[in-house]
Amino acid sequence: MRIPFVAGNWKMNTTATEAEKLVLEMLDKLDRIEGVEKVLCPPFVSLVAVSMMLQSSSIKLGAQNMYFETKGAYTGEISPLMLSELCEFVILGHSERRGYFGETDEIVNKKVKAALANRLKPILCVGERLAENEAGKTEEVINRQVTAALNGIEPVCDLVIAYEPVWAIGTGKAASGKQAAATIQFIRDAVAKLWNKSIAQDLHILYGGSVTGANIAEFISHPEIDGALVGGASLKAEEFVSIVKKTAEIKKENKVVSSQ
Ligand code: PEP
Repeated sequence: MRIPFVAGNWKMNTTATEAEKLVLEMLDKLDRIEGVEKVLCPPFVSLVAVSMMLQSSSIKLGAQNMYFETKGAYTGEISPLMLSELCEFVILGHSERRGYFGETDEIVNKKVKAALANRLKPILCVGERLAENEAGKTEEVINRQVTAALNGIEPVCDLVIAYEPVWAIGTGKAASGKQAAATIQFIRDAVAKLWNKSIAQDLHILYGGSVTGANIAEFISHPEIDGALVGGASLKAEEFVSIVKKTAEIKKENKVVSSQ
């Protein structure tokens, strides 16, 4: 049984002061929502403050990136060891990292290995670009990214995969629920072939890309989609709370319906 999962990726937004204010605005309401794993991923400079604010809550903390070495002469980088004292999750392979910072499949693979070795749970992002989608290459791209990212890694449940079509991120043009569900099923099948069916069945696979309070139901009502990785809408306290609340309600209803 997979618990629904919603993570907020704040990207390069909020100063430390703004981050504390945003957490304060959503903390109590989010904390009270049961039946959903809730994760906030603020910028590095706010991780310490936010981790203290979340201490006695049901909300978990994630980072947005990390380097793959544990320590050493890598000026400006943040290591998995450093994050492991603060966070449970780390977003890896986000399309903005791949696109703007030249992260290759090989680098993403090193990061996934390093995160797991330091007991951090990766939220591994995969997704095709618009031209690849239009050329009918979605499955080929996704298969390449998933296979490369998990290369040499023993089957683990401590991994979340987020299907984030690049053309849907920050554009206001979300995929359709049907299309996202089909690609997520493709990802689950790919993991089953790489690892095994039982692990693939246990993995959380999310949709990300222009998710809002108004469209979350379209995704969450598909049993293949376990939740969402939310960017822009996670910076608005009320909207993020509403996304999490709707996720809890719809998944609970679906469970009741499917067990009848
Ligand atoms: C993201 O940053 O992972 C994301 C999905 O962004 P947005 O929700 O703004 O499209």
